[in-house]
Formats: sequence, C-alpha cells, structure tokens
Amino acid sequence: MVELKTDASIDAMYEAGQVVAGALTAAQKAADVGVSLLELDEVAHDVLREAGATSPFLGYRPSFAPTPFPAVLCVSVNDAIVHGVPDRYRLRDGDLVSIDFGAELGGWVGDSALSFVVGTPREADLRLIETAERALAAGIEAAVVGNRIGDIAHAIGTVCRAAGYGIPDGFGGHGIGRRMHEDPSVPNEGRPGRGMRLRHGMALAIEPMVVAGGTDFFHAAPDGWTLKTDDGSRAAHAEHTVAITDAGPRILTAR
Ligand code: MG
Ligand code: MG
Repeated sequence: MVELKTDASIDAMYEAGQVVAGALTAAQKAADVGVSLLELDEVAHDVLREAGATSPFLGYRPSFAPTPFPAVLCVSVNDAIVHGVPDRYRLRDGDLVSIDFGAELGGWVGDSALSFVVGTPREADLRLIETAERALAAGIEAAVVGNRIGDIAHAIGTVCRAAGYGIPDGFGGHGIGRRMHEDPSVPNEGRPGRGMRLRHGMALAIEPMVVAGGTDFFHAAPDGWTLKTDDGSRAAHAEHTVAITDAGPRILTAR
C-alpha cells in the first residue's frame, strides 16, 4: 500500500530532511585522514540531538540482519557498498567514503546518502562518484506525475550502465514517510513505462549504487551488515528523499 502525503505532511518531511542534510554535511566536513568512523557517527548523532530528532537506523533490524544496527550513520569505505557499520577504522588518504543517514522528526522520516574521497582523490573514484550523482539526478528528473516507477529505474540504470559500472542486484530505493521503508520499492534498473504510476503526494527515497568493477554481485561482511563488492572494486552511493508533486519533484533532503 502506498500512502499519499498531504502538502502539510510533505512540508513536515522537509523539516526531517533538513536534519538529514545537516548531519551529512557535518559528517563529511569532519571526515579527514586519521578520523575514525565512530567519530563520524558521533558527529551525526550530535546533529540529531540538537534538532530533537531520533534515528531510524539505530536498533533497526531487517530480516537479513543478525543484530540490530548499532549506530545512527552507515559508513561504507572503498569496497563497501552500503550498510557499513561505524567502527574504530581510521580514514586513510584516498579512501572513498559513502555515508548514509536517516532522521525522524515530528513523526516523519528523511533518508539520504552521499559519497566523497578523503584526502587525495584518484581520477577513477571521482568518476564513480560523479556517475552515482548523475544517476540520482536522472532518477529525480524522471520522478514526475504521470511517469511510472520503471521510468525512474530506467533513468538510473541507463546512466550507470553507460558508464560501465555494475549495479548491486536487489538493492535500491523505497517509499518513505512515517516509516523509513514503505511501498513501493524503487529499483536501480528497469523498463520504462512499467510499474506503479507516480502521483502527487508520493514520497520516495531514490538511491543509486554503482560498482567500479562492473559486477552486480556482492556479499555481506562478517559483521552481517556491510555489503561488499565481490571483486574488491570500489563502490559509490547517492540518495535523496524526494516528494512527487504537481509542481515537479521536490528534494526534501537537499543540502
Ligand atoms: Mg539511506
Ligand atoms: Mg534509503
């Protein structure tokens, strides 16, 4: 069941989305050579506390997870694609970092992610990140009233495949609102003109993930959470929470 949001609810979701945007900006700013992933989690947690918001990540336990998620921020470094658990690892020069964050404020949830390089970037990593961002932009551009879910999926997939990258099989975006994961699912690859029709008041988290090695396969790290590329190549992730409105897509987690 897809819940359509009222305009007032979308405004409330924007407030939650701005907490997410602020936390991601703060965490990215803090991410430097020698800083630990736990320290980044603490920076994001401070933003939550200051906003009077709570974390939909902390304690989250989907069916695949062996333990509740222990942090407010997912930090996925280099060959980690998504769901990285913050630990004592200290960032090194040239690390490709993806951070994914959610906040719940006033009963509404926002969810967003971005990728960046710490220190001196490699050309290949910048191209990977730029592609994830371009795929996200293409997906958002297709998130208009009258289009279908498949149009978003097709737009994302086309950008990623044209760049020669892999798309982790079975992971993608989702409806969002009072809960972080609602219907419908928003795949990162698909056929145009297929799937649910988009209507004013739908809210979606759109989130392309790209793998440099071109493979769609991945495995879970021993922690049971972190998804890693099978070929050891690097991955990038970009995500925004977007409301579909008669006036066009509204990015609720815009930074
Ligand atoms: Mg997310
Ligand atoms: Mg998400």
